[in-house]
Amino acid sequence: MNVEIITIGDELITGHTVDTNAAFIGKNLTAIGLNVRYRSSVGDSVEAMEEAFHLALKRAQLIIATGGLGPTDDDLTKRAIVKVFKRNLVFHEDILEDLKRRYRDRGIEMPAINQNQALLPQGARFFPNRIGSAVGIGIEEKGKIFIGLPGVPIEMRQILIDEVIPYLKALKLAGSTQVIVIRTTGIVESKLAEIIAPGLKLETGVRLAYLPSYSGVDLRIIASAENDTGARERAQNLARYLEKVCGPHVYGRDNDRLETVVGDLLRDNDKTLCVAESCTGGQLGQLVTSVSGSSAYFVGGLVAYANEIKIELLGVPSEILQQHGAVSEECAIAMARGARGSFGTDFALSITGTAGPEGGTDDKPVGTTYIGLASPHANYARRFRFGKDREMNRSRATYAALEMLRREILDIK
Ligand code: ATP
Ligand code: MG
Repeated sequence: MNVEIITIGDELITGHTVDTNAAFIGKNLTAIGLNVRYRSSVGDSVEAMEEAFHLALKRAQLIIATGGLGPTDDDLTKRAIVKVFKRNLVFHEDILEDLKRRYRDRGIEMPAINQNQALLPQGARFFPNRIGSAVGIGIEEKGKIFIGLPGVPIEMRQILIDEVIPYLKALKLAGSTQVIVIRTTGIVESKLAEIIAPGLKLETGVRLAYLPSYSGVDLRIIASAENDTGARERAQNLARYLEKVCGPHVYGRDNDRLETVVGDLLRDNDKTLCVAESCTGGQLGQLVTSVSGSSAYFVGGLVAYANEIKIELLGVPSEILQQHGAVSEECAIAMARGARGSFGTDFALSITGTAGPEGGTDDKPVGTTYIGLASPHANYARRFRFGKDREMNRSRATYAALEMLRREILDIK
């Protein structure tokens, strides 16, 4: 079954509001095994909506539209529905009574304009809205299903999850779908593909996507089958293959985050951590402490931006800074050692680099970053060449530092 999502509102096409509804709907319909093929957005114009609805009715079996269902004059979606489906609006006493009761409960008299909310296209079903006043509308016609939902994201989500998804599931439009995400880091997408492709055999109904971000590359498996067991088995088969061939690059599955995985490793091994950061300005400490319970292993950090601070508070020898500069292997190691010494932890991570966009040189172009690690057994640093974008460089360095620690603790070479 092909699905089209249509979002409605001038603010969406002018870019004043980011279209989060389409993303939410797409994700949730995919998760129940529906095939979202198209997505479109139109402004607040009855004509544009009519065109979009007609096109969608040609190419999709299920259409979900959001926005413009409110009671005010700028809410035009019902007018477009009336024209496209050639159905009159009929009054629903029960919807109005329910609305009036909710206003009474809040001690407010219902504004008269809300009477419009009780008007629905003839023969339509409605999906109750527990948060706002506009109910969702469902029309089944000639083998197609059209669903109109309010635009307010929190209302749309409630109706979709509580009402629409159970309704669609009951129609048995789709089989079962299982999604597994294998999370990797420290390896680029193309290199991963080289490892994965040779032995890859995709069963029918199984799709694999590479999703890169600053923290790593996610491998997303979507497996469909006639029933839950079949879908789960297909997804698991591919997940096991990916975990085998990608080996140490895999740090977790689904909602695992690198910072939680590393945090668990520290806690389980009774180890402590501190950080010394230059170009990331505290981002590593922020990421580590974003995990609840991180006080069990995180002791503290120092943002050592200026050379004097590296020297005075971390004990980096000034000769190192003179000879090799702040962005150097030697400095990264000295920062980590210095931090470990003063904070008295098992591990210390340090980051020093040229985040850009200015400040690069021939032998240390923008993006050059050294990450240092000090432990009871070894002190070392690795050189990274990230990109040209400042924010990207800072984020990548932050995750790369955590990954170095993960590998150190797990003894991955
Ligand atoms: P209401 O009953 O509140 O009038 P409505 O169905 O008429 O609901 P809209 O008027 O279209 O909805 O939008 C209400 C709010 O929700 C606006 O602030 C709008 O920017 C936001 N919104 C609408 N569509 C989306 C979307 N696709 N993604 C994110 N926000 C949206
Ligand atoms: Mg509105």
